[in-house]
Parts: sequence; structure tokens; C-alpha cells
Amino acid sequence: MSRIAYVNGRYLPHSDAAIHIEDRGFQFADGVYEVCEVRDGLIIDLTRHLDRLDRSLRELRMASPMAREPLKLVIREVLRRNRVRNGLFYLQVTRGVARRDHYFPAAGTSPTLTITAKSVDPQPARARYETGIKVITVPENRWDRVDIKTVGLLPNVLVKQQAKDAGAQDAIFVDAAGKVTEAASSNVWIVSADGVLVTRPAEHGILRGVTRTTVLEVAASLSVPVEEREFTVEEMLAAREVFLTSATGSCVPVVAVDGRTIANGHPGSVAAALRGAFLHIAEKTPI
Ligand code: PLP
Repeated sequence: MSRIAYVNGRYLPHSDAAIHIEDRGFQFADGVYEVCEVRDGLIIDLTRHLDRLDRSLRELRMASPMAREPLKLVIREVLRRNRVRNGLFYLQVTRGVARRDHYFPAAGTSPTLTITAKSVDPQPARARYETGIKVITVPENRWDRVDIKTVGLLPNVLVKQQAKDAGAQDAIFVDAAGKVTEAASSNVWIVSADGVLVTRPAEHGILRGVTRTTVLEVAASLSVPVEEREFTVEEMLAAREVFLTSATGSCVPVVAVDGRTIANGHPGSVAAALRGAFLHIAEKTPI
């Protein structure tokens, strides 16, 4: 079965799905995106993802391609046409097509909307929950507006590859003050020596992950004490647990940072408990 993509009002086989050579997403990374998980035929936290999409569009003064309800219909149609039960959809909006020029295009230029979907085998993720992953730390070198989910991800791409080359699976950015910001495509959490769940405030320096927001609610439901504050690499190395959250990864335990083992080198119980309770709290929308 060939995969189907939605491109500006049309459902097309991937081999025919294309955007214009002068699309501003291609020319300037002038676009935003969302990735949303699908589990057992349920879209996870769709409202929060679409709320964040609206915010990203507003922050970049970009037009919305479609009202919320028709957009939801299109997303579900793409998932259905690709027969996704477990996997994800990827949605991208760009400022549209215009002759290459840094200034915004003329008012009324239509944004480009593309949506793809794919099935993902849940087994490798489950294996990662059992074994945990290794990460490296890297200096923060991204722009100041990482709170906007733009398609400009070159620093993230480079550090993820750097991690792979170093025999690790992910990279954690560290700011000039020695404080952890976030990982290449996920938020970072620690469980401190005294059992407090700590994550950086989402005001500055990180993307406000949808999974992060829901995990904060899950932690409250389990009466896990939480502090939203900055933390250093040293604190992370001394933590009882370190884990990463993202829509496609839930809570992924980290067992080594820069070659140094975290706690006893095994995934911790807090990440497992949060993962276990996550689906009870998250919003679930049937396809
Ligand atoms: N931080 C970055 C840089 C990301 O790219 C992502 C997800 O792609 C996240 C955090 C986690 O966000 P979410 O939980 O909404 O997937």
C-alpha cells in the first residue's frame, strides 16, 4: 500500500506529493510543525498540539491554513488513508510560495499545509524503556526562540548525529550558565537525590512540550513532588533518575550521560510510573 500525503487540499501518493521550489519552508525554514502520537487508534493530546500550532503561527505572524474542525477532519482522514493504528502524524505549515525575498510575501499569500502519517512498530520503544539510552551533553547554540516549534532544526540535527557518532542515542543542550535546557527533540527531567521531579521552566530556553505538560499532570495525580526550576549538569549526574519526554517517546530513561552512569545504571521507577499512568490522563481522540 503506498503512503498518502495531504498537500494543500489534495490526498496524494508520496511519490506525487510535492511542494513548490519557492515554498518559503524550503527557502527559509519559514514554517512550523507538529508531531502527534497515535496509540491503538487514538490520537494523543490532539487539542494541546493544535493549541501549540496556533501559538507558533501567531508568534511568527503566519496565517492559519484552516479552521480547527476541518483541520481535525483532514488529520483523521490522513491517518485513516494510511491505516495508522500505532504511529504518528506530522503536520507542517509554511508561509507559502513567493518569489525568494526575505520580506513577508504579499498579504493573501496562501500558507502551505502538508500532513503525512506513518505507522511505527511500538516494540523498539518498549525495548528502550527496559534498557534506557545514553546521551551526550553539547553547548546550547540555538536561537533565542526555541519556544516556537519551527522547522529550522539544523542544530538539533547536527547534535543528534554527533550523539550517534559518539555511540549515544541523544544529545542534551547545556546553556552558557551550565544549566540544562532540553534534548535535541525532547524535554529533560531529573529525579533529584531527595526524590523531587525537576524540569526546567518553559518560560525560556525550551519548547513547552505537550508531553511535558501532560506529565506534570500525571505527576500531580500520583502525588510525585515537582519543581519547575533550572538544574545543572552536575545535578543531573548526581540524580536518581534522568529521563526525556516527547510525543513519540513518552518517558525515555537515560542511564548514562557523557559516559558517566546515572544512579545504578538502570531505568528508574518514577519514569516507569509516569509512563504507566500517562494514558489515563492524556486526551485521547479516536481516529
Ligand atoms: N523539545 C524539542 C526541541 C522538541 O523537538 C520536542 C518534540 O519534538 C520536544 C521538546 C517535546 O515536545 P512534545 O512533548 O510536544 O513532543
